[in-house]
Amino acid sequence: MDLSLQTEDRTFQDEVREWLEEQLAGDWQHLRGRGGPSDEDALIEERKLWEQHLGANRWTCLSWPQLAGGRALSLVQEVLFHEAYAAAQGPGRLGHIGETLLGPTLIHHGSDEQKGRFLPAIQQGTDYWCQGYSEPNAGSDLAGVQTRAEVRDGQWVLTGQKTWTSLAHVADWCFVLCRTELGSQRHQGLSYLLVPMDQPGVTIRPIKQITGTSEFNEVFFDGAVTELGHCVGAPGDGWAVAMATLGFERGASTFGQQLNFFNELQDITNAAKQNGCFDDPLIQDRLAQSWMELRVMRLNAWRMIHHLQTDQPSAVGAINKLYWARWHRKMGELAMDVLGPASQRAQTDGELTRLQRVFLFSRADTIYAGSNEIQKTLIAERALGLPRSAR
Ligand SMILES: Cc1cc2nc3c(=O)[nH]c(=O)nc-3n(C[C@H](O)[C@H](O)[C@H](O)COP(=O)(O)OP(=O)(O)OC[C@H]3O[C@@H](n4cnc5c(N)ncnc54)[C@H](O)[C@@H]3O)c2cc1C
Repeated sequence: MDLSLQTEDRTFQDEVREWLEEQLAGDWQHLRGRGGPSDEDALIEERKLWEQHLGANRWTCLSWPQLAGGRALSLVQEVLFHEAYAAAQGPGRLGHIGETLLGPTLIHHGSDEQKGRFLPAIQQGTDYWCQGYSEPNAGSDLAGVQTRAEVRDGQWVLTGQKTWTSLAHVADWCFVLCRTELGSQRHQGLSYLLVPMDQPGVTIRPIKQITGTSEFNEVFFDGAVTELGHCVGAPGDGWAVAMATLGFERGASTFGQQLNFFNELQDITNAAKQNGCFDDPLIQDRLAQSWMELRVMRLNAWRMIHHLQTDQPSAVGAINKLYWARWHRKMGELAMDVLGPASQRAQTDGELTRLQRVFLFSRADTIYAGSNEIQKTLIAERALGLPRSAR
């Protein structure tokens, strides 16, 4: 695998850096570093304007095909953009669920009408999406989905409950996995519907987390409606479409987040230098170990890109997810040890510091986008060829 950058990649990298530096030093400076994990509710309206600014300057949907409104850039260049974005401390993205999950799903499985209706608004940062998969009794075992939809008076009518729905309170639309064939079981009889959130049949109830913020929500559908044409793939074929979306989730979309880890580790090192615990050889050892593992993670991320580009079926995505989720939890614990007793108290205004929030949010890393146990099952079956586990 060749890890050196081509000349056009370096030129692109310079262009991104310069543009971000200019923007985030100017009118958008107040958004710098805001809206990350456990700061999700910060400056929502301003961040929507930022999304539109990114879209208008063609810095969204970089690797989408041109016909779909993208720039058909390589995955490598998309990663370079995410790296530069993290280095410049660009604000937490609000449009990423549409851009990295729903968009690619529509490009591969959507009708021309759906592509024409939904892709431009994602690219321009005017429509925001959330993912309606998990339910109280269907998380890792997603085939247990019970939310149902039926056709009545020429439209889909939905009843049921989703949970842990990130950014539902900000979203205009939700892609919902639901049961559309009465009496169907498991993977059969499911459909993938695109449902508007702003309607009387949808109730969004925020779930308050230990950080005090509400990144995710419960979503209740009680007679919620959507157009017949808003079913992606054929009715009843929703499982295949839902799995395609998850493929994108476990792929390139984890990159931007991973690259922020560099900034966080730097903050921990600075805190250690400031409060003197950097002189403790055990802390030094853990910081060095963490830094080395982060380098390994970055190389593995490039390896994943290589696999994605060559389309080789592999468990690389699962290995990466398992590795970074464990690493980030460990890094959160290191941050708390560096802060010492101060890690246990909020600031005088009751707010948590960035590192306290990072630590608390890192506890979720081994759960979302497939828990550790699920990743291990995938590795066992796909990489090691062990017998399939009972389902
Ligand atoms: C921060 C965050 C954001 C999220 N955002 C979204 C979102 O936007 N949309 C959405 O739909 N969902 C979202 N989720 C939900 C997430 O996908 C689920 O939490 C996850 O799939 C696990 O499901 P569960 O919580 O029901 O736990 P369960 O599936 O009930 O699992 C509980 C425990 O049992 C283990 N376990 C389960 N099955 C097995 C098995 N077969 N073998 C071994 N161990 C097993 C799990 O690893 C876990 O430790 C989010 C979750 C988090 C934490």
